[in-house]
Amino acid sequence: MTSKPYITGMNHSALVALCQDAGVKPIHADTLNAYIFRRGITDWYAMPELPQALRDYLDVSVDVLTPDVVANQHAEDGTQKMLLRMPDGKDIESVLIPAAGRLTQCVSTQVGCAIGCEFCLTATAGLTRNLSTAEIMSQVFTARHIMGEPVRNVVLMGMGEPLHNYDAVADFVRLITDPQGMALSPRRVTLSTAGLVPAIYRLIEDKLPCSLAVSLNATTDAIRSDIMPINQKYPLADLLEAMRCYVQQHGRKRILIEYVLLGGVNDSLDDAKRLVTLLDGLASTVNLLPFNAFEGSKFQRPERSHVEAFRAELSKAGFVAVVRESRGRDISAACGQLKTEVTARRRQKVS
Ligand code: SF4
Repeated sequence: MTSKPYITGMNHSALVALCQDAGVKPIHADTLNAYIFRRGITDWYAMPELPQALRDYLDVSVDVLTPDVVANQHAEDGTQKMLLRMPDGKDIESVLIPAAGRLTQCVSTQVGCAIGCEFCLTATAGLTRNLSTAEIMSQVFTARHIMGEPVRNVVLMGMGEPLHNYDAVADFVRLITDPQGMALSPRRVTLSTAGLVPAIYRLIEDKLPCSLAVSLNATTDAIRSDIMPINQKYPLADLLEAMRCYVQQHGRKRILIEYVLLGGVNDSLDDAKRLVTLLDGLASTVNLLPFNAFEGSKFQRPERSHVEAFRAELSKAGFVAVVRESRGRDISAACGQLKTEVTARRRQKVS
């Protein structure tokens, strides 16, 4: 593994420092920033404005992180699920979703996850390590390279709990929304959390330029603690208070609620009514996600009639509620599924 820092994870200040170390004017940081992050060009020999001294310095001092694409599954609906290998051999998933002329990418923030949600395949392997800012960003560069167009929406909903890797994720969010660089609108960068309450307050205090999604998935502490152990530490009342604080103080108009519907667990009409009460007065949009069963999962897909009744109850109460089928259901749709399959295949080959 290289010991050189990755230029593709550097913010403008770090690029200025590079220029100073190379003995050239700091203004060249603007050129580097524009080429790398705005145009997706990472070869400094294709940047004619740069002085030779800077190129020579970059040659020996920094690297560009280009993960190997270990697998790339294509779904009929255009979704692509990539398995990317990081320099230390660890694999992560990243999903590309072309829709309405805009490329959306779901990025991973950790190798594995420590949160342990019962309905999540990624949770079964636990947490291996955090991803660095450069490793998170490398997913976006790889997407641009493969698709030939820049990513327009980024959702931090892949493997890992983003707020469990706060510093690297915060740097990534600032970098991808930097107006001089990739310049994504903060409305087009959505960070999804399972409910790490103290980190939500930190995000508010830091005014992190992104939208927030909360994976809620239950309307009572008993059920939520059963399917999301994090609820034992940060129960619903605390989480909802943090969500209200976000909407009031962060200057965002609304919060996205994700609700995975698990057949017979959290998909009843009573659940829908309780959800209406919990979200009362909170500007929110609700995404209802019918569970995709995977091998060994203990939950069932909900009945279609339950999904529709749940959605109708929310709509009746005035909420924007949308049923979102997992994109790419004909490929390994569940988060962590592709990595599990590729690892299993590798093991079979070895034995
Ligand atoms: S759903 Fe998200 S937070 Fe929960 S275990 Fe899976 S990756 Fe982690």
